[in-house]
Amino acid sequence: MGFVMKYVSTRGLAPALDFEGVTLAGLASDGGLYVPEAWPRFSPDEIAALAGLPYAELALRVMQPFVGDSLTPERLLELTTKAYGRFAHAAVTPLRQFDERHWLLELFHGPTLAFKDVALQLLGLLFEEFLGRRDDHLTIVGATSGDTGSAAIDAVAGRAKVDIFMLHPHGRVSDVQRRQMTSVLAPNVFNIAIDGSFDDAQATVKRMFNDTEVTARFGIAAVNSINWARLMAQVVYYFAAALQLGAPHRKVAFAVPTGNFGDVFAGYVAAQMGLPIERLIVATNINDILHRALSTGDYSAGSVTPTAAPSMDIQVSSNFERLLFDAAGRDGALIAQQMKTFDATKVLHLTNAQRAAAAGLFTSARADADQMIAAQRWAYEACGEVIDPHTAIGLHAARAAQALPADVPVVTLATAHPAKFGDAVESAIGVRPALPARVGDLFDREERYDRLAGTYDAVKDYVTARATPRHG
Ligand SMILES: *Cc1c(COP(=O)(O)O)cnc(C)c1O
Repeated sequence: MGFVMKYVSTRGLAPALDFEGVTLAGLASDGGLYVPEAWPRFSPDEIAALAGLPYAELALRVMQPFVGDSLTPERLLELTTKAYGRFAHAAVTPLRQFDERHWLLELFHGPTLAFKDVALQLLGLLFEEFLGRRDDHLTIVGATSGDTGSAAIDAVAGRAKVDIFMLHPHGRVSDVQRRQMTSVLAPNVFNIAIDGSFDDAQATVKRMFNDTEVTARFGIAAVNSINWARLMAQVVYYFAAALQLGAPHRKVAFAVPTGNFGDVFAGYVAAQMGLPIERLIVATNINDILHRALSTGDYSAGSVTPTAAPSMDIQVSSNFERLLFDAAGRDGALIAQQMKTFDATKVLHLTNAQRAAAAGLFTSARADADQMIAAQRWAYEACGEVIDPHTAIGLHAARAAQALPADVPVVTLATAHPAKFGDAVESAIGVRPALPARVGDLFDREERYDRLAGTYDAVKDYVTARATPRHG
């Protein structure tokens, strides 16, 4: 092969890394996020040739240009086969139909019932693979609004050479979400409930990635969607859905329930690779920083209001930096300046060039609680589909979208299984979704977690007292 994809930082200063390097890294050393140095591109014929492949093989083909020399194709296929073999549906991410125009892409058939499994089951295997090649130890530090935590813990529990410290906002995740994390009693798993919001937890984690006192002793890695490998894995299901709906001969639009901008950024990557995407519809709840940013250019953080869709209760969307970078012609110095201002003032104004570039592919919509419930009722009453609150926000945005050509199918990403948010679903449609057998006795299991003040020092002391230092 001899081909190496290099990754560069959105802030322009950190050294370039290969795929193995970015997988094991957290933030870039200049505080930025890693992106491929260039987007690989498939021709329409190459895309047409992907139709009908089994999911694990499609994953291999879509990911290979990003992985480069870091894994042989044979090995990568073994890993995707193993990761997606744990899904409860043979199609991995099956597509269902609402009506003539609207479709539902079910991303929740993994072990922890949310789309995060699609990327994290693979990431757990990539960590093991790359750590096996070196005498090193990884300390994963992550923040979760509920779903990343359970998916990441499931993916690394009991694995050698990895510890995981997962912060969740105390009292702000659903019972199912919390139990999926805290009932994993493997000795390498540390659950921390912090007093504060998800944004507070995420800020603590980002600070730790930038704390040289910590990073000098421990191999700190990310499982949040700042990790490039996660986004890469999510690109695959955009291809899977679009191919089924007629790509490359027909364009497709996607409505994506959005928080940290990871999932929808994977759609952007698919478009850069040549997949004919008509529109990416960014759906937010009332925590609508992204809707404001995309519709008015004003990316400014307010405070977080808890909603029935907690995984989207976010006012700072880490991956938006990746879009800002690309939309600014990859001007790292500009991004460094914009993010510095944002960190200090919580306000960032997109440049005209950034706004214009984003508007070429993205639109956005915001759903309040009534609109979310109305979408759940329509799905149930008109189509017999029970959908979770996050998915409902996506569906609201899909149905509200203006100015799409009539022949473009609109795919709403179903990001969580409805049973993961059973109370909210029951109060919206009067039906309580059953927990799938694969999570079985969740409510009878012992829980273990520690509660900490939401200060940086409290978390740092906790982690450094328990983590295994890196070797060599
Ligand atoms: C994480 C999550 C989201 C938001 O995804 P981002 O990649 O952070 O934008 C939406 N819905 C559910 C159920 C999630 O778990």
